[in-house]
Amino acid sequence: MSAILKSLGFEKHTPYVRDYFDNVNMRKSIYMSAIIIVLEVWMIIRLTRTIFREHLQSNFWHYFEKYYSNYIILLTMGCIMLLCAVRYLRGKLKCRNVLVITKCVFMVVCIYFGIKVSLNDYEKGEQILTFLTMELFSLCLLTWRPYAAFLISGVSFLYFFYRMDQMVALNRIVLYNTNDTGVTEATKINFFFMWISTIMVCIANYNGIRAQALKAGNLQEINTYLSKLSVEDELTGIHNMFYFRNEAEKLLNYVTTDKENVVFLFFDIENFKSYNEKYGFHAGNDLLIKIAHMIDDSFKGSLVSRFSDDHFVVLTNFDGFKNTIGQLSGEIKKLQKEVHLELKCGAYKPIGDEADVSLACDRARFACNSIKKHYDRTFRMYDKSLEDRFQLKHYIVNNIDTAIENGYIKVFYQPIVLTENSEICGLEALARWQDPHYGLLSPGIFIEILEEYRQIHKLDQFIIESVCRDYRESIDNNKPFAPVSINFSRLDFELCDIVSFLCETVEKYHVPKEYIDVEVTESALTDQQDFLPSAIKNLREFGYKVWLDDFGSGYSSLNVLKDYQFDVLKIDMKFLSGFSNNEKTRPILENIVSLSKQLKMISLTEGVETKEQFDFLTSIGCNRVQGYLFSKPVPIDNLRKMIENGELKISSQYGN
Ligand code: C2E
Ligand code: MG
Ligand code: MG
Repeated sequence: MSAILKSLGFEKHTPYVRDYFDNVNMRKSIYMSAIIIVLEVWMIIRLTRTIFREHLQSNFWHYFEKYYSNYIILLTMGCIMLLCAVRYLRGKLKCRNVLVITKCVFMVVCIYFGIKVSLNDYEKGEQILTFLTMELFSLCLLTWRPYAAFLISGVSFLYFFYRMDQMVALNRIVLYNTNDTGVTEATKINFFFMWISTIMVCIANYNGIRAQALKAGNLQEINTYLSKLSVEDELTGIHNMFYFRNEAEKLLNYVTTDKENVVFLFFDIENFKSYNEKYGFHAGNDLLIKIAHMIDDSFKGSLVSRFSDDHFVVLTNFDGFKNTIGQLSGEIKKLQKEVHLELKCGAYKPIGDEADVSLACDRARFACNSIKKHYDRTFRMYDKSLEDRFQLKHYIVNNIDTAIENGYIKVFYQPIVLTENSEICGLEALARWQDPHYGLLSPGIFIEILEEYRQIHKLDQFIIESVCRDYRESIDNNKPFAPVSINFSRLDFELCDIVSFLCETVEKYHVPKEYIDVEVTESALTDQQDFLPSAIKNLREFGYKVWLDDFGSGYSSLNVLKDYQFDVLKIDMKFLSGFSNNEKTRPILENIVSLSKQLKMISLTEGVETKEQFDFLTSIGCNRVQGYLFSKPVPIDNLRKMIENGELKISSQYGN
């Protein structure tokens, strides 16, 4: 029912649909009014020529009243309609009422003259073409709501029919002297069908355009939504990274911008992750929205945006920005509940004519990251020392492939020994980058960067291949070798199918599976990810031993032990750092070793540097140790030499 009512025009239009109808009507009005203007000008010229040709000037007033006035009214109306339509389409006519009134008057004038002329013609025994043309013209070409069209056409058809009927009846009396009724049954039926057809055209016209308008309206809505999305951050409503980059670039390129006086700020909320974990996702989102608006308010008139997660970037004036950060930091601290929240900000001031927005944001971020976990620092300006580190970081990311190809990356081996007889039971493969430009780079520098830029799998695949190659070469040449433990990054499982890669490489070099162990650090397991448990399970099912590296360095060590199965527990070297002066170290180590026994894991302590530490670990039953006391990580040739000259011995139980 409601669909029928709607198709008859009984509905409220959205502003978009209303404008769409107006637009269509005004376009049609241009053609219609142009036709009327041409027609009336032609009629005026024709009549004037006739008057002059036939010398009828003396009857001018008669002609004026009868014809000229009508032509002039129609001509004027055509001009007004044309003007109105053109102004509307050019966006100069804003008042809709003027539009509606003009359209209605135009329609009334057209129909009125249609009726008038046709009745005249009919009286002379001619066709009623003008009436029909004007009906078509003003009702079918213009789009009306069907109920309005029904009323207008109903009244005009009825009036015309009534007058025609009267005229025919009068003619009958005059000509045939009969009192018969007016028009014949056939004419009545024809007339009725003509009227119905007109209404049908109006309904079809209205619904066709309505459907187009709704479709275009939907598209328009989607477009508006998408264009809003392209500049606005969906969660917080402030600008997004895309908008920021564009606008910042424009701003830096304006001649009027004082480039000496701008600064890029990168904000990060320390401990936001913990807040999210403790209070849930929704509370985390609410907090982000609050913080986004606080930053936006603090830097009014500046370019403020959210880049991702809890990262915000601002381009503002250099003057006084530090005070604003201080105030903002105080306000954000007030939002904290049980989780300690802290604002961290890195700032980068472009030098000279520099206009690379991405690089500027990267540098500000780098400055911000450099003060993470420094609980007393809120702000750091990007300076020379950071620039050196920044360059190194970019160098590492851009050169990892070359470094692998050119053999700058090497595997160093650090022996792992049995406490019972100090013989080697394994080797840990540790990456070293001997760079021609920077010299020896330790993994402490490049692993984190490769992980941040998601390139770490390249290194780890290379280490796997190198270890397998070293094994094959040692066996083929009758040189000593022991099982090797390889460090896997959490991201290896995400960035490539590292398990398949390991299996294929091991097969390629015919390495027995007992010769390869996999080390996964504890921190890798604290992030809740679905794929790691199954990947670890797969590795063990394929016959590899999986070791838990750096046990005790994170916060959820015991949970990790509960949830996963490991073969070896590598106790983090931080437990040994206060060995001689902290009396708590010994009982803690003793308990961890006993726990590993209960959980049926081999215990291994890293970072053993003194004989005292070694003796203690032996006394509490720790199975294996690794540390500088026996050897630093060394290249394979050095290791062989140490074995050859008797400094180290490979346990017959483990190696060859
Ligand atoms: P990790 O796996 O816990 O490796 C042990 C680290 O402790 C090594 O540092 C080693 O040189 C150092 N170390 C060993 N014994 C002693 C000692 O007695 N005293 C002291 N002070 N340090 C000792 P390195 O080689 O700098 O490696 C650091 C970390 O980098 C490694 O920690 C490991 O997590 C990561 N790493 C190293 N190579 C690779 C690799 O190829 N792939 C991946 N994904 N990570 C690697
Ligand atoms: Mg390790
Ligand atoms: Mg370790």
